[in-house]
Amino acid sequence: MGSLKIENVKKSFGPVDVLKGIDLDVKDGEFVVFVGPSGCGKSTLLRVIAGLEDATSGRVLIDSQEVTATPPAKRGIAMVFQTYALYPHLTVRDNMALGLKQAGEAAAEVDKRITAASTMLSLEPYLKRRPAELSGGQRQRVAIGRAVVREPKLFLFDEPLSNLDAALRVNTRLEIAQLHRRLKATMIYVTHDQVEAMTLADKIVVLNAGRIEQIGAPMELYHAPANEFVAGFIGSPK
Ligand code: ADP
Ligand code: MG
Repeated sequence: MGSLKIENVKKSFGPVDVLKGIDLDVKDGEFVVFVGPSGCGKSTLLRVIAGLEDATSGRVLIDSQEVTATPPAKRGIAMVFQTYALYPHLTVRDNMALGLKQAGEAAAEVDKRITAASTMLSLEPYLKRRPAELSGGQRQRVAIGRAVVREPKLFLFDEPLSNLDAALRVNTRLEIAQLHRRLKATMIYVTHDQVEAMTLADKIVVLNAGRIEQIGAPMELYHAPANEFVAGFIGSPK
């Protein structure tokens, strides 16, 4: 299970209103992509869902349970960041194991999950290495692996491919799509890249200046953009 409901979520930083009333429903197993220009509030919305930022008002529900005031570790989510956010002093294996050990998982269960995730992401040869001994693409696969082993209800990705070169971006994107098919997990994915949005999404959410401009399947948005803004972002050229 991993449905998400966002009800009239607003977020201000001091006098600046960053999210101006967001309503959103994500079904269990959906792949939802947030797109929009830099600074429109994509990361802030993801962080509010994760519990890394508190909403100024509004509610967040996961599987119909309100989690607005629930700490991040208790929300059943895992987040993958643009910058990987791996611990440099730990091996790949220990980076993946850390969260599970903190959550009190038994050693045998930790081993089992790491083996499965490493196979899925072709990480077996790197388990004893430290992040500095890996390429950017390998590091991001470790960060994804670390999310996978936690078996979250909801995966949150914040521009996970932005630091990778073009070829690796394509490969990693395909791996994420494959992961979604295998795990059937709910995934929310932030990008400012139209190609990523069009190829990955069941549903695209177009954000602009803290509001949702349109929500729809990629082809709906492409062929029937609600306004000039959406057209400029993903619509067919006019
Ligand atoms: P995006 O991810 O779409 O590029 P962000 O959600 O990171 O946008 O940021 C939206 C706006 O909120 C920006 O103007 C940014 O400067 C501001 N912002 C984000 N986080 C903070 C913060 N912790 N304190 C103050 N302003 C912030
Ligand atoms: Mg961002």
